[in-house]
Amino acid sequence: MTNKKIGIIGAGIAGLSCAKQLLNAGFEVQIFDKSRGVGGRMSHRVFDQWHADHGAQYFTATHPQFVEELQEWILHGVAQEWHAKIVNFCDGQFSEKKHQIKRYVGVPAMTAPAKFLAKNMSVFLSQTITEIRKNQKKWQLVSEESGVLTDEFDYLVFAIPPIQAKKIISQQSDSLSLICEQANMLPCWTLLAYFKEPLGLDFDAALVQDNIFSWIARDNSKPSRVNSHAWVAQANPDWSLKQINLNKLEAEKILLQEFEKISGVASDFNQIQLWRYAKLETPNTQNFAIDENMQLALCGDWLRNSKVEDAWLSGYFLGNKLKKTLIPSD
Ligand SMILES: Cc1cc2nc3c(=O)[nH]c(=O)nc-3n(C[C@H](O)[C@H](O)[C@H](O)COP(=O)(O)OP(=O)(O)OC[C@H]3O[C@@H](n4cnc5c(N)ncnc54)[C@H](O)[C@@H]3O)c2cc1C
Repeated sequence: MTNKKIGIIGAGIAGLSCAKQLLNAGFEVQIFDKSRGVGGRMSHRVFDQWHADHGAQYFTATHPQFVEELQEWILHGVAQEWHAKIVNFCDGQFSEKKHQIKRYVGVPAMTAPAKFLAKNMSVFLSQTITEIRKNQKKWQLVSEESGVLTDEFDYLVFAIPPIQAKKIISQQSDSLSLICEQANMLPCWTLLAYFKEPLGLDFDAALVQDNIFSWIARDNSKPSRVNSHAWVAQANPDWSLKQINLNKLEAEKILLQEFEKISGVASDFNQIQLWRYAKLETPNTQNFAIDENMQLALCGDWLRNSKVEDAWLSGYFLGNKLKKTLIPSD
């Protein structure tokens, strides 16, 4: 047990995974997120008649530690394998994908594993952290919504994308700022489209080439989704980057036109979203980063390879490292 108190900024899967390790080791942990819910880019949108996962679409599990975590999620009913028919789409032709990997999704939505992890944790939502201040040896947080927060922390963990982390820590840690600067995140324009009738496409998802999209998926082919005919179409990183300054109406027009070429039918409702920091450009091998002098640390998918599994592992490895660093062994 320890009386040290740790503040985590970001309640995505990395921040929650780190919190789990720290809580298990006996630390007091508080988590802050600017959104109204947990899960970050493992996100799900709910509309009047329909809903869809609009960030991460599925995840894979290869590292033994994450496989173990996934088994717990499955046992508690918050994740399941997605038995999808996934095809390749190139030159206007669909072809069966030969090597299928096991893909998993949160159930009933991609947010479910994060909600499961956050249960019984101290999570403060709608708190956009803008500044950190050191008061004697303790850290204090300043949020856009509440000003200076009263709690004081021995250590702070930033489980947020690099550009956002750098803005907050640049005055405090040169070494961590440099690590943030070196990571480049690519955007993703995303279309969510609802159809009153099912589309006549004979597959559940497609990896797309030669098109502005890189991925399209029938959201209701995932387990435990109610029968609403929603499709998610993600533009590829090159196109998204070139078109990052489009306004939503312009992007909507193009994405809808392109999707209609594939589906053959106009959507009944749709929603457009630009993810500015969707995925890392070049894989990283750091796992996490620490500035021991300043008692600040970084974790997140971007310190590995921009997948749900990487985010969870980054938080897991950082949590274990902090345990060893902050709890003196006998
Ligand atoms: C469009 C898209 C498709 C994807 N597809 C897949 C996929 O198919 N498979 C896969 O494995 N991965 C996929 N990913 C990647 C996956 O979603 C991420 O790797 C993972 O969710 C990242 O988790 P994280 O905890 O590191 O960061 P995030 O999920 O980004 O969590 C960071 C959290 O920090 C909060 N935050 C940020 N700034 C502040 C601040 N100043 N104050 C307070 N809170 C703040 C945010 O609100 C967020 O909740 C996709 C991502 C996107 C965007």
